[in-house]
Amino acid sequence: MTHVYFDHNATTPVDDRVLAAMLPYLREQYGNASSRHEFGTLARKAVNQAREQAAALVRAQPAQVIFTSGGTESNNAFIKGAAGMLKPGQIAVSAIEHPCVAKPAQELARSGWKVRKLAVDGDGRIDLGDVAQALKEPTGIVSVMLANNETGVIQDVAAVAEKARAVRAWMHTDAVQAAGKIAIDFNALNVHAMTLSAHKIYGPKGVGALVLDKRIELKPLISGGGHEQGLRSGTENVPGIVGFGAACELAAQRRQELAPRLSAMRDQLERGLIGIGAAIFGARTARIPNTSYFAFPGIEGETLVIEIDKAGYAIASGAACSSTSTEPSATLLAMGIAPELARGAVRVSFGKDNKPGQVEEFLSVLSATVARLRRLTAIAV
Ligand code: PLP
Repeated sequence: MTHVYFDHNATTPVDDRVLAAMLPYLREQYGNASSRHEFGTLARKAVNQAREQAAALVRAQPAQVIFTSGGTESNNAFIKGAAGMLKPGQIAVSAIEHPCVAKPAQELARSGWKVRKLAVDGDGRIDLGDVAQALKEPTGIVSVMLANNETGVIQDVAAVAEKARAVRAWMHTDAVQAAGKIAIDFNALNVHAMTLSAHKIYGPKGVGALVLDKRIELKPLISGGGHEQGLRSGTENVPGIVGFGAACELAAQRRQELAPRLSAMRDQLERGLIGIGAAIFGARTARIPNTSYFAFPGIEGETLVIEIDKAGYAIASGAACSSTSTEPSATLLAMGIAPELARGAVRVSFGKDNKPGQVEEFLSVLSATVARLRRLTAIAV
């Protein structure tokens, strides 16, 4: 049985051209980018080229790109780095942030910060009225993601940034799930900082960037030899950075061809889903083109993911798993979805190699699986 991968918001395969760009830096061009000799100079050149490629994807300046180990580090670097420079005040983050924003924000409570969760509406969009309400309190940091990893819903980050700037708060957006899927313009979004990750755009795992408005200064999360303008010490991951740069360039090149192809498959899927009784989340509002998030009442998302995996398809559940419990998705709860329905949430996220034929076959497998699970739950009741 061939396995079909429908989980591109979790991670993507490395593009062949990305791998080809990386290989020389794992083999013969293994220099340390800080070295003065030829090996070092070649590595430095490659890192600088990647900086240009990453900057171009989000229409920023190369000097604004700080390479990190990925989205998690970039989000931590901004939140902790900003808190290290500002007087404790309020930090406002949306109620649907990825844990690598939500947790560092929460941790600031220990050093005197007040953590304010910004509400979302039933479609999963930030409630701008609640943002205005929240910002009546003195606020130092605001972080709102550009696209949600579960629902795919796109947020009006520019509108939030306008309000944040009006109260002189530092504005950050996690653009990990938006990059390569929608056009991004760092300046038009009016943010101070933006997080990117390579492995969501057909690049390697363990590399990403924080794109930063140089008018703000962060306390470095990792200090040492002063790499990355003193903001992120550590010998540069040259092959990873080169791969990230190549992935950014490819993402920019293929976006206009890819986005309509992905949204056509997503719409094809959702037409079928409605026919088999799914509730679809966030479908009434603007989303990144590849993501569909849905539930079948009475069927556990985890169970569905396991059964669908046995049938040859990799999809994700919306539940946050820990070793001891399975909690329904915080994003869906914030949207006002009942916990029983939220427990059923599963996500399909398409990628560049998926084909409409796979969607058609998936729908018939899903329909049969759902019918079988419904019979089983009916017997159990
Ligand atoms: N932010 C969002 C919205 C994500 O979906 C993810 C990955 O799941 C991350 C951040 C973390 O990025 P990384 O895996 O590069 O640490």
